[in-house]
Amino acid sequence: MPARTKALRRKYNRKRRTSLIEQGLCVTCGWREVIPGRTQCQFCYDLWKKSVERSDPGSVKRHERQKAQRAERIAKGLCTECGKRPATEGMRMCPRCRAMRNDSTRKYKIHQRTLKAQQSGTPPTEKERYSKWR
Ligand SMILES: [Zn+2]
Ligand SMILES: [Zn+2]
Repeated sequence: MPARTKALRRKYNRKRRTSLIEQGLCVTCGWREVIPGRTQCQFCYDLWKKSVERSDPGSVKRHERQKAQRAERIAKGLCTECGKRPATEGMRMCPRCRAMRNDSTRKYKIHQRTLKAQQSGTPPTEKERYSKWR
């Protein structure tokens, strides 16, 4: 079953990523040391930057700005999503944004599953059919 293998691979990838980050190794190539504060080595970072700049000029700067903004919000104890309300202790988001994020992720997942089911001809489950995805 392809879905099962995919889920397993994702699980494996996440595990690999975490262990590489712990060891301070690049998550892309897996053997070079990372740039401090990053999850990639200089080599892979440059490659990534080049490919991104080619497909979407200005996005690296945007990415950097978002990263800086996020770090600033974390330092101030503000929600990384809205930057207005204080984040819940031990969390990066305020309760409102977290609830919203959780809700949209859940709806999105159900929506994806429903789409997939429609394509493969299997009807969605009861729960999925009555979900309020819009
Ligand atoms: Zn690398
Ligand atoms: Zn917020």
